[in-house]
Amino acid sequence: MSVFLFQNVSKSFKTYDGDFYALKHINLSLSSPGLLSIVGKSGSGKSTLLNLLTGIEKPSSGNLVFCNKPINKMSDRAFSKYHLKDISMVYQHYNLFDEMSAKENIYIPLLMQGLSRNKAEKKATEYLERFNLTYLSNQKVKTLSGGEKQRVAIIRAIITNPKVLLCDEPTGALDGENSDAIMSLLKDLSKDILVINVSHNRPLVEKYSDRIITLKDGEVVDDKVINEYKEINAISTSYKYSSSWTSLFTKLNLKLNLKKNLFSILACTVGFSAIFLSVGFYSGSQTSQENALRNNLSILHATASEKTFYEIENSPLSFEKMVRPSDELLRANLKEFKNIKYEPNLSYLFPNYPNGKYQDEIIENFQLIPLYDISLETFGKDLLVCGEPPSDVIDEVIVNEEFVKLINKRKEDVIDDLFNISYATSISYNTGDYENPLIKDDFSFDYDLRITAVVKEFSFLNTPKVYYSYPALKKELGTLYLENISDYQSEPVSYLDYIQDSDDDNQICSYSSEIFICSIDESSAFFEKIKKLSESESTFQIESQAYDIQQSYKTFIESFSTALFVFAIIAFLGVNFILGMISLSTFIENKKNSAILTCLGARNRSIQSIYLRENYIVVLVSIVISIFLAILLQFILNNLISKNFALDNLITIPFMSFYGYPFALPILLILIALVFSTIFTLTPMLIYRHMSIADELRDE
Ligand code: ADP
Ligand code: MG
Repeated sequence: MSVFLFQNVSKSFKTYDGDFYALKHINLSLSSPGLLSIVGKSGSGKSTLLNLLTGIEKPSSGNLVFCNKPINKMSDRAFSKYHLKDISMVYQHYNLFDEMSAKENIYIPLLMQGLSRNKAEKKATEYLERFNLTYLSNQKVKTLSGGEKQRVAIIRAIITNPKVLLCDEPTGALDGENSDAIMSLLKDLSKDILVINVSHNRPLVEKYSDRIITLKDGEVVDDKVINEYKEINAISTSYKYSSSWTSLFTKLNLKLNLKKNLFSILACTVGFSAIFLSVGFYSGSQTSQENALRNNLSILHATASEKTFYEIENSPLSFEKMVRPSDELLRANLKEFKNIKYEPNLSYLFPNYPNGKYQDEIIENFQLIPLYDISLETFGKDLLVCGEPPSDVIDEVIVNEEFVKLINKRKEDVIDDLFNISYATSISYNTGDYENPLIKDDFSFDYDLRITAVVKEFSFLNTPKVYYSYPALKKELGTLYLENISDYQSEPVSYLDYIQDSDDDNQICSYSSEIFICSIDESSAFFEKIKKLSESESTFQIESQAYDIQQSYKTFIESFSTALFVFAIIAFLGVNFILGMISLSTFIENKKNSAILTCLGARNRSIQSIYLRENYIVVLVSIVISIFLAILLQFILNNLISKNFALDNLITIPFMSFYGYPFALPILLILIALVFSTIFTLTPMLIYRHMSIADELRDE
């Protein structure tokens, strides 16, 4: 039985001038054992013939059979089996792995055959000894001479015990002495197996060959049998395959691509850290929102008013007016809050924006805000950054840091400083008396306020604020009397009485009531209430600066989170794209090695795993580094934010627990990154899979 059978085999290549036939109508039967030489001038089709035998080129027409099985349309597995078990190839330019040692080159096919690393190394050492090459076993192949490389290539080819050994010009690059040594080695081997030797050196092959086939312009022009052997059938061994050898290449690639990999680790670390920080910002901002609001004394104060409608006679239109709500309405609407007080609004006399003077300089744009408990006993003193809370008198106040900035001082220096506020207005009383229709009382104040404490407040949209005691003001206005009106009514009328008893739609009552939240624990529920009221059709409305700030902060955080989220996704895709590109470029750089591996019998999946594994290592290292980097950045940024915005732990990366699952965030990120980098790495590689192995292996 012949090992190879050519039945009318032709091979053509597409060229610019049409089809070019490198082999024409070949009919041959090659049997084992023996040394078969194929000779012919350069370009006569010798290498093409070998490529058909190895299966990396397919016949354009005709049949080519190995041991009764056609050599075309081989699956990945069949191709691997064919090369690991049946044939081996020695190339004119060796096609060894230059960066590996001679020994590694030799035992890689054994690892593919499933041998353990130990056994493979031992067998490689034996072969090197047998060929007197022990001295170069640990040398890198690229440092070897041509003759040494050729022998290492032959050892790599025969160590797997192939049934057929194919050699393309094995002596082409060697001098006479070396050529003779190689030929006698091939002659030795050909006692048991079929050795096919391609050469253009006719005198040399005539000395050793058992059969010589001469090619000319792609046709067999001579077929001379010198020795006839009795055909033997090689013993069939079982096919085993292992991909343990791939780790050698991953290690090698990691070493060779060190710079490139460090660059990708850097890029990925930046990307992953950005993702961690975005998630940290998103989750931290949810919890920090409430804390942020608590860091604000004005949360304790709000105003309530009632919307009323006045019909316009003979018109479908009506106009709307705010009035002070009645006590019943206040009670009905705020009944669920145990620690809320409502009081008359006194700002007609004690306005929110009075004239201010600080050491003879006029100050503007600060706000006076009443507090029910200026001693901060119920609120807690956490916000104080210096000083002590005032006693319950009208001229001792707390200021916030924005106020300190307004007057351009250091916060430690403002304690016990005085600043002046003044205001003047008048109250007119309509008597309805024809003689004396209008009674007028003038009101003015001029206080030197003493700053006893500074508070640090959440600074988002915050303005300079001065907090004073509402009970102290109430007491003060309860003891000041409207002289003229008291005279007219013949009883003492205090300013407090006058405001309390005024009509609810009179501007003297400021069209509203003050509301004081006396327990911080009720503030969230209170804000919910404001929200509900503002969304409902209710005529009862509550105004709160702190609530407005909370709403804007929420909107800001939400849009910022969305922007960060988009950024994180782009960063993530970018990172994976970089990974994919880098592994593709490594793959392309190493295309030749992949082609050699394929012809040694490596399966495609193993070859891909080399590049994937390299990528996975980059991903994992990057994630580990970015975890540490993100923790560091979180610490630095939170410190900065806390210092400048009075907002603690805005960034809280949920490393430990994510939606209740321990360590879910890093694990999830790793998994997604692995999936993505697999896709990004494999897609270009699958496209490149159709590269021509023959083109890669063609001798330069
Ligand atoms: P040899 O090995 O005998 O020198 P080859 O088998 O390499 O010759 O090539 C035979 C002929 O086929 C040459 O003329 C060569 O240019 C041509 N040839 C080989 N491979 C290709 C290819 N992929 N495309 C076009 N022409 C090719
Ligand atoms: Mg050739």
